[in-house]
Amino acid sequence: MASIRPAALSIITYPDPRLRVRCKAVARVTDEIRRIAERMIAIMRDEKGVGLAAPQVGLDLRLFVCQRPDDAEASVYVNPKLTLAEERVAADEGCLSLPEVTVSMSRARACMMEALDLEGRSIRVEGVDLLARIWQHETDHLDGRLIIDRMSEAEKIANKRIIRELEQAYEKANTRKRR
Ligand code: ZN
Repeated sequence: MASIRPAALSIITYPDPRLRVRCKAVARVTDEIRRIAERMIAIMRDEKGVGLAAPQVGLDLRLFVCQRPDDAEASVYVNPKLTLAEERVAADEGCLSLPEVTVSMSRARACMMEALDLEGRSIRVEGVDLLARIWQHETDHLDGRLIIDRMSEAEKIANKRIIRELEQAYEKANTRKRR
């Protein structure tokens, strides 16, 4: 991995192809990884998000940060692996990489997660309700999956204009860059 300047990181939005990558495992939790996580937490808080995955700041790394509104501190999970409980619940989700888009997502109500913490230690934690939902949303990002992949026909129609606008804005920004 080339050296990354955490201060230069910012949120990328759909349809940036970096959001579609199946991210690589983090080989070792280094100071660089800790600095990246710290910067991601700051970005998540600025944007009033409850979670942010590394590909959302353009990084090909299996790592995400999260913080529910009532949590005192943010959490960081490296190389997370989820085991989902059977019960499913649907709820509306948004995504910092898809501003203004809302999709009703059916998710496991509870899940177990194995991951590394920022000291590189293996941890095993259980989440229910919102926490389980955030973990599933963020690990989807690490596999290149977005909430728009699971829209109903009605949601496709409801979100059509905003998705088209995001695509046009991306095209425009990249045509400029190529010149
Ligand atoms: Zn998201």
